[in-house]
This record gives sequence, structure tokens and C-alpha cells, in this order.
Amino acid sequence: MSNWVYGFGAGQADGRADMRELLGGKGANLAEMANLGLPVPPGFTLTTEVCNAYIGRDRAYPEGLEAEVAKALSAVEKSVGRKFGEAENPLLVSVRSGGRASMPGMMDTVLNLGLNDQTVEGLAAGGGDARFAWDSYRRFMMMYSDVVLGLDHIGFDDIIEHHKLENGVVLDTDLDAANWKAVVADFEAHVEGELGEPFPQDVHAQLWDAIGAVFGSWMNRRAVTYRRLNQIPEDWGTAVNIQAMVFGNMGETSATGVAFTRDPSTGAKEFFGEYLVNAQGEDVVAGIRTPHHITLAAKNRNGSDTPAMEEVMPEVYGELVEIYRKLESHYRDMQDIEFTVENGKLWMLQTRAGKRTAKAALHIAVAMVEEGLIDETEAVRRLDPASLDQLLHPTLDPEAPRDVLATGLPASPGAASGKIVFHADDAEARSAKGESVILVRIETSPEDIHGMHAAAGILTCRGGMTSHAAVVARGMGRPCVSGAGTIRVDLKAGHFTVAGRTFRAGDVITIDGVKGQVMAGEVPTIQPELSGDFGIVMVWTDRIRRLKVRTNAETPLDAHAAREFGAEGIGLCRTEHMFFDAERIVAVREMILADHEAGRRAALAKLLPMQRRDFVELFKIMRGLPVTIRLLDPPLHEFLPHSDAEIEEVAAAAGARPEDLRARAADLFEVNPMLGHRGCRLGISHPEIYEMQARAIFEAAIEMGRSGEAVLLEIMIPLVATRREFDILKDRVDAVAEAVFAETGARTGYLVGTMIELPRAALRAGDIAETAEFFSFGTNDLTQTTMGISRDDSGNFLDDYLTNGIFDIDPFVSIDVEGVGELVKIAVERGRKTRPDLKLGICGEHGGDPASVRFFHEAGLDYVSASPYRVPIARLAAARAALDERENDA
Ligand code: PEP
Ligand code: MG
Repeated sequence: MSNWVYGFGAGQADGRADMRELLGGKGANLAEMANLGLPVPPGFTLTTEVCNAYIGRDRAYPEGLEAEVAKALSAVEKSVGRKFGEAENPLLVSVRSGGRASMPGMMDTVLNLGLNDQTVEGLAAGGGDARFAWDSYRRFMMMYSDVVLGLDHIGFDDIIEHHKLENGVVLDTDLDAANWKAVVADFEAHVEGELGEPFPQDVHAQLWDAIGAVFGSWMNRRAVTYRRLNQIPEDWGTAVNIQAMVFGNMGETSATGVAFTRDPSTGAKEFFGEYLVNAQGEDVVAGIRTPHHITLAAKNRNGSDTPAMEEVMPEVYGELVEIYRKLESHYRDMQDIEFTVENGKLWMLQTRAGKRTAKAALHIAVAMVEEGLIDETEAVRRLDPASLDQLLHPTLDPEAPRDVLATGLPASPGAASGKIVFHADDAEARSAKGESVILVRIETSPEDIHGMHAAAGILTCRGGMTSHAAVVARGMGRPCVSGAGTIRVDLKAGHFTVAGRTFRAGDVITIDGVKGQVMAGEVPTIQPELSGDFGIVMVWTDRIRRLKVRTNAETPLDAHAAREFGAEGIGLCRTEHMFFDAERIVAVREMILADHEAGRRAALAKLLPMQRRDFVELFKIMRGLPVTIRLLDPPLHEFLPHSDAEIEEVAAAAGARPEDLRARAADLFEVNPMLGHRGCRLGISHPEIYEMQARAIFEAAIEMGRSGEAVLLEIMIPLVATRREFDILKDRVDAVAEAVFAETGARTGYLVGTMIELPRAALRAGDIAETAEFFSFGTNDLTQTTMGISRDDSGNFLDDYLTNGIFDIDPFVSIDVEGVGELVKIAVERGRKTRPDLKLGICGEHGGDPASVRFFHEAGLDYVSASPYRVPIARLAAARAALDERENDA
């Protein structure tokens, strides 16, 4: 067998379906169809290695290629009984790219190659008619000039327009053979005028130049950008497929069509497709003519009055049905096929796994397992975890027009329309009246929680993917666009401006949290529905995965939602988030602003019963599953009162003078609150705060125990850098436990562990694990502190980092495996060395990102914790990671 060229056709092929690395997806599947004995126009594939050699050697072909191509071409000539470049009975070919991964529309294609002033006559004489032949020639000239000669298509379009005007016709299809012949003459003059040379008449030169152009298109800007966005390595290269042309535009017994072996939007087991009589492939895809249904059933269901292929060409239709069934059972997957009928003879041009919606993907997976085509693991392997987002949130109708005003970060998925409000209280008030509102803020703070909850969606001008708005919105399942920097909010005036337009409170906008877009007006949304298929697939993932999946939740609502989605406990309860409702925030501020212990204790005494109630609720919902409660970790700036009214409110509650509180708030101001007096540092300075929280936790656990419910309690200390910090605080927690046990005469088991969210903690993990009973990686802060990039400000410059290729993806979204990941691995290794049974989890936002979940699986963690709506994504991602590991081990 040859090295560079693989032939196919007439019931046999040099290649196979599993050779896509070498032959590209298209080439491998053409070979496979030929091997299956399906009618494939004969041709050959130049491998991806030719591409790499060609590009690597400054556009010179590898040795021996020319001879191999000549041999393969002559095999095609023999097979179809026509000769390339011969005037009498010319062979025409298509030259198409075809990489390992599909890169739709990114690379170039030339059709009808082999036409020149002589062969066009031969084409007219043999089979087609003169109009068909001249029309084919001008199509070829346009494509070739664009792809190979680099001429702009506008010059060619102008010539066609001119001929239509001259002949008094509107449509291309109204031009006859003589008209097209005249167009071709003008095209030739145009090319010669532009290039100073005539349009190439030597068909072999055409072929080699087209091959070079298609290989070269691997490096065009479009393709390079697409690869970067889709993480396709450059050294994959593309293959080039050269194949005998077949024509669907040879008259009424010819046709062309595309079809899916099952419905790609619902997954229903129905053959689904469209065709056009007397047309070329592009006509179906380009929407120039409206295609017709292939099956009678689809035609009737849609009330169409144009004839179905099943009626017009019953025999060919029968053959097509037989073929699609064969393909589906052979590939054991839904296929997307392309075919052409030339004078009543069916030809298969392509088959590949069909793209489908998330809903269809689930349905097809479940149905194929039931049909015995695939097993559960194969079904799980085929599902894309990220696509589940589509199922869990409303999405925008893809058909609806969008008036895009700005693009920010896609901070929380889903889409929502509503009236603009600028204040959390307005959001609450309006939504209580049944209105849908979008809360627009420069950035959000914990005080906005009630408004965020009431709003249908959240939009901020500042903030990255782990900013307050993003984290909280994801937790609540609210769509959110953050960091839309071109929007200027003027709170005083009650409006925002963007792109020269002004929007006032009450005006309607729409946000798309998947694309990060902000749109004027209402764009219709499609509501999600969770099918039975979803539940079935989730059970399969649970049988496969090793990683446990918990949730980040503190409210009963979120905890319930997470249980519904299959969370196996709480991995992070951020207690500071429990303090934001109107009733509590005043006591919290009172505690923070108190300048002596007695004042703090008075405020804490007010909070204690509320905290206890909260914990009892959470324990009830989690019913014996582990619950990790993190002691207070408030960057102070999130809690300080801002307005005079707020200060007065706290003063009244604390019995203090407003001016004293104002002075104290000024004292507490921090230049860099994320690195300030937060986390365990607050616990070190003010022991009574953690003591109150520990007491509330233990009292709640004992109360549960009395009613016969088990509690698996884990208490977590945030932002630890040194073992000494941890030890001091653990001792205090233990002391409170003993006190509560003595008072109540009951005990409960518990663990005390730490978050690893500072590089020093990761490096000193061996030491910290001497006393810490578990670690939970806080990868939001660990990313922030490892990279030295503020979580709240990264949005300002992230784009520059992405466009310059410094980051492939926002490191707050998907874990930086090389840097932050290295610290995680170090901490795992050192921690487990000290304490082999150390429990290891991760509760940063990365816990819901499929690529990061894969890394955490490989790093040997015990669980990931994700916001409730991302729990199913994490379950599937964990199963996929386990499957891939099994495969690599095998
Ligand atoms: C983290 O830092 O990853 C974390 C989970 O804590 P927070 O986001 O509350 O700082
Ligand atoms: Mg943190």
C-alpha cells in the first residue's frame, strides 16, 4: 500500500473508519462506506501527513506523491469510464478538505475541477445538456478563482448581475446555455485582466494548485482562530479528498439531499431530511430554494404541499432507507448523511455522527441502549457534560432576532428577559408584583442577594467569572452576564448608556448567560424540561464514576434543588451568605462594627438562634449526607454599611452613636479586602465569632440526633496559611464541642478541616494535615493568589489575555492545570503522606467545570462540590473521567 494516498470506491478501500487521524473524518468514512459496499463515487484521500509535510517544507510536496496521485487518478478514471482532461468524455472531480475534527466552513473546497474550454463541450455532449455544462463551468471558475487564485468574488457577481440585467431576468436559473457561455467568456477576460494570465486550462495544473490551496487553507486565519477556540492542535493537519463528481442537477431524475438517521432536535427514531430535485449540494444548504421533505410522514406532519422524495423517487428512496439503516447499525450512532441522485442512480457523499441537541443526545443514548446497539458506558462516553446546561436552564429561541447591545462574560447560564431595575429593593418589589426584572448593577455585593433572588437575571458592568455576582447567580440558577464593560450605569439618573443608546429603569432587555450577550427588548425563550431520559443517564453516570459530587449551598431552596439534581452532600456552606436577609444584616454589621468584645457578643447572641435554625434545616434536607460548614469568611468590604440610613439602622440596633460607627467603618476600610482581614484571620482576632458559630452548629447537630436523624458534620476553617492558625482555631472548636456536649449530655461526631486556598497552605499541606482532618481546595482563591489576579477585576483585561493566547480559557472558569493544578497535586501528595485517610475535596467554582473535574479525578480527590445547577454536569464529567482512565489503563 502507498504512503501518501488512500483510494476508495467500487466496493473497496485502502482505508477504514478508525483511520481518521490519517485520513480525516470525511476520508475515513468514505473509505468505510466503500468497504460496506455502498455506492460511493470513487476517489482518493491525500493524508494529513501530506499536509504536515507540505506546510513544514515551505509548501513543497513530499517525494513520491505525484506518482501516487497519478496512479490513484487513473484508478478512478477506470472505475467511472471517463478520463481527466479528455475532451470527449471528461472526468470531473471535487477537491475537499477533511480534518480529524469537523471544522465547519473553515476550510476550502473546489467542485467541478477538470473543466476547461474543451472539456465543457464534452460535458455538454455526454449526459447533461449545454446549459448544465456552462453553468457548471462558471461555478467552477468562481470557486477556483476564490480558493486558488485569490480573486474576490464581487467581480464575478457583478458580471452575472450585468448579464441578468442585459437579458431582463431576475434569477440565475433564468439564464440559458448561451447566456452562461457569455458569462464564462467575461469571467475569462476578468481573470486575465486581474492576473495578467489566462484562466488555467491545464487540468493537471488545476488539480495540483487546488490541492495546494486546500492544504494551505489549514493555515488561513479563520481556521487558525477556530482551532484555538476549539483546542484543536495545529499538527493534526487536514486531509484532502479528491473524488469523481456526481451531479444532482442533471434534470428531473437527479436530486441532492441531506438527512439525519434520527431527529436531531428531539432524538425521535424517525428518518429526517430534506432534498431538492435538479440541484447541487450547496442549493440545499444555502437556502436558495426551499428544500422538500424526504419522507411522506414528515411531509404530512408539516402540512407541506410539495412532494416528498418517497413519492417522487420511490425506488431510490427505498435504497436510501436501506443504506441509512445499515449505516446506523454499523456505526451504532445517529448519522448525518449527504447524498446525490444522478439520473436515477443514488450516490452517498458523506456520513458522520450527527450533531444533536442535548435533549436529542440523551434520548438517542437511552434508546440505543434499549435497542441493544450500545451499552451504558458507551452511552455515557458520547454525552458532552457541558451540553447539559442547555437542559437545566431556559435558552433563547435560536431563530429569534437579537439586537445585541454589549457582550460581557457568560457568568451563569440561562437566558431571561425583563424590565431594568438598578436596586435590589426595586427588584424585590417589582417581582413581588409579578413582573420579570433584570437587576443591573455596576457590581453586586452581599446586600443585593434578595434582589438577585427576586430578579429573572443579573447584569453587571464589572467583575469576572468568580465575582460575587457570578458565584451567587450560579448558585441560585439565575442567568448572569458579568463584566459588560461598555455599559455605563448612571444610578443617579436612573439609566444606562451603551453604544450611544440610553435605557431607563423599566425598559425591557434580555440577557444570554451562555453567550454573555445583552440585548434590547424581549427575545423569546424556550423553557427547559427534564425528561425521563435525563434521570436514566444520571443513574448510569453514578455507576461509573469514582468522584463523589456534592453541592455548594446554604439556603434550603438551593439545598433542595441540589438534592433533586443528585448532590451527595454539601461541600461548602458559606455561612456569611446566611447573613444577608434584612433581619440579619443589621446584627452582622453590629458585630463587625463593634469595637470591643462585649458589643460583638451582644450582636452574636442575636445571630446564634438564627444560625442554629439554619443548620437544622440544612441537616434535615441532607439526611445523613455529609455537610461541610465553613466558618465565617467575609471580606469586610462586602459587609460594611455604605449609606447614612444603613449606619443609622445599625446604630439604633446596637445602641451606639452613628458618628462612632461611621468612624469605625472608616477604620475598617481596606485597600485590598480580598487579602485583608478575612477568613480565619477574623477568627484569630475575634474568637467569639467562631465560638458562636461552632455552638450553633453543635447545638443543631445534637437537636437532630435527639430526633433520631444522623448528621455527618464537617467544620471548615477558611483561608489558612499556617498550621498554627489552624491549630488555634481547631482547639477552640473542640472546646465549644465539649462544652455543648457537657451541657446537653449528648455527643455528635465531627471532623475539623481546612480549606486550601493559599499557595503556602498547599506547600505546607504535610504539616497542616497533622491536625486537619480534611482538605477542601478553594480554587477560586487559590487561583487568585497563585496567579496574583484579583477575582473581581480580572474581567477588565481577560480579553486581552485570551486574544493574545496567554490564556486558552479564563483560569477562574477552568483550572490552570500547570500552575494551580500543580499546587493541588503537591498538597494532595504531602497531605496524604501525613494522613493517608485525609478526605480531599474541592469547592471552588471549578467543581462544575468538566475539564477541571477531569483534573480533580486524576489528582485523586474524593469529591467535587458544585453549585446546584451544575451538579448533573459534574456527575457526568466525573463518569467520563473515570471511563477515560479505564480506557487508558487497558
Ligand atoms: C474558593 O475560594 O474557592 C471558595 C470556595 O471560597 P469563596 O469563593 O467563598 O472565597
Ligand atoms: Mg475562598
